[in-house]
Amino acid sequence: MIVMKFGGASTHTPAGIHNVTGIIRSRRAEKPLVVLSAIGKTTRNIERCAHEAVTGDAESAYHQLDELLAFHLRLLAETLPSDSHRQVGRRIEELGASLHSLLQGLSIVRELSPRSFDACRSHGEKFASAIIMEALNKEGVPVQYIPAENIIITDNNYGHASVKEETVCKNVQKRIIPVIEEGKVALTEGYIGAAEDGTPTTMGKESSDYTASLLGALCKASDIQIWTDVNGMMTADPRIVAEAKTIEELSYDEAEELAALGAKILHPLTIAPARNGNIPVHIRNSANLGNNGTVIHAATHRASPPKVEAVALMASLKISGNGQRVVGEEFLLQTPGGAARFASVADTTGNAADHCAVSIVGEGVGNDTSLLLRMIAALKPMDIRAVLYGASKSSASVVLDASCGEQALRNIHKEFLTS
Ligand code: ADP
Ligand code: MG
Repeated sequence: MIVMKFGGASTHTPAGIHNVTGIIRSRRAEKPLVVLSAIGKTTRNIERCAHEAVTGDAESAYHQLDELLAFHLRLLAETLPSDSHRQVGRRIEELGASLHSLLQGLSIVRELSPRSFDACRSHGEKFASAIIMEALNKEGVPVQYIPAENIIITDNNYGHASVKEETVCKNVQKRIIPVIEEGKVALTEGYIGAAEDGTPTTMGKESSDYTASLLGALCKASDIQIWTDVNGMMTADPRIVAEAKTIEELSYDEAEELAALGAKILHPLTIAPARNGNIPVHIRNSANLGNNGTVIHAATHRASPPKVEAVALMASLKISGNGQRVVGEEFLLQTPGGAARFASVADTTGNAADHCAVSIVGEGVGNDTSLLLRMIAALKPMDIRAVLYGASKSSASVVLDASCGEQALRNIHKEFLTS
């Protein structure tokens, strides 16, 4: 079997949804488990509604909720024939009513606990599963919906919940495997789960990628596919660097490093389950099947000397230094794996951060001072605040003022990757 995750960037237009259902249908023989994210910017919009409700602007929160519902109803109307509208429309209205009551509660107590916040956020994916389920039904694909909260049981660390792997494993055996064996497509949601007491939880921004790879490992999938809106993992974020190119192949380490250092195409936790199960991760563009995207798998033999495969920007790095001085330890986190990680403190209210980090990534790059020196030279005359070198064998990073980030990324891309 395979796991196919479709991000919000793939499902926000009728054409996008048709691509998605077409891809699922064409892979039916491979027994897919489909993992969906909320459509477009839904999660961010729900978060905004919740913030408005607690800060006292309930009317504005309700108004934004109406817009969110209208968006989904419009998408439904433009994507599916009219006989589908009533039932799915009712489901969308139900989800809207549930969100409305939550917002009302928040506006009364004027307090947004992590638990209430997750209760709000957990609605986003439900709109997506309702619409895509019906789209698959209409295409004649036999499909069974399995709500994420019936599988992904987590601790109650709301907002950043961790899965209870044993329970999840049992749920997978009981609820997913039989569906797949019956020859049906199984469909569930990413990002969300439930604590043992049944309250909704979420596992962190963009964590649908992780849900997909976790379920892929537990189902012993032969392939984990992350379908998105760009041609795989690229040499830089194509929104910032126009010349960015698809990287055909990456090792697990390189992809994990890139994700951790700001390449938002992939959630950093995605790699570990895939690596443990030795399952390849394919990143593909759902709107461009002609492009093979990127395959991430066990280390390949790299030519020496080390080569920079990609550059990344972590745009929101807040450093609490003393005055103007930046203290290295304060933004270095040591993960269990021993690799260096920045403490990213971009919060959901979108507070601007002071600093950014640009990084070069590739096997062996973290042990090659000549590459570091070339990176520093390419950043001239920008003010370098800190250098991170030696903590990871596959990356080196430079900390700069946040305002320099995009230009810095273009400079180092030009230095190492533009031919
Ligand atoms: P999804 O909704 O499918 O999860 P995301 O928006 O989370 O999609 O991720 C896709 C986006 O990631 C792309 O549109 C692109 O702008 C951004 N991105 C950042 N770094 C990279 C990179 N190195 N390669 C490709 N895309 C990147
Ligand atoms: Mg994503």
